[in-house]
Amino acid sequence: MTIALIAHDAKKELMIQFCIAYCGVLSRHNLCATGTTGKLVSEATGLEIRRYLSGRQGGDQQIAARISCDEIDVLLFFRDPINRKDSEPNEMNLLRLCDVHNVPVATNIATAEALIMALERGDLDWREYGNLSI
Ligand code: PGA
Repeated sequence: MTIALIAHDAKKELMIQFCIAYCGVLSRHNLCATGTTGKLVSEATGLEIRRYLSGRQGGDQQIAARISCDEIDVLLFFRDPINRKDSEPNEMNLLRLCDVHNVPVATNIATAEALIMALERGDLDWREYGNLSI
């Protein structure tokens, strides 16, 4: 499975701690991320992560394009619901594309944990068997 990681600045530390906690599970999958999120997570965990451009340079749109091509199986997007900066990715397009392509997506750590556990149990294996999007 391919898991994409994006965290707004205020949530980057939370993303790092999450990835440290679930490093074992994450290491069994292909990971990609926006630039800064990927750099910080790989430095903290040693996980191999394909890094796209930073969010402000369009890295979120690179990930959106992969979602459109059905190349992302899970999106973990820790967004800042209170003080998102104008330069940070606007989640609406990403979330819309996840809905179009039936990509499981978490925008907070509570849902991210549920998704990681589902992934570990094999509950998301259907992603590998075919595209259910309409
Ligand atoms: P970044 O992109 O990981 O490159 O910072 C996400 C963001 O801009 O919030």
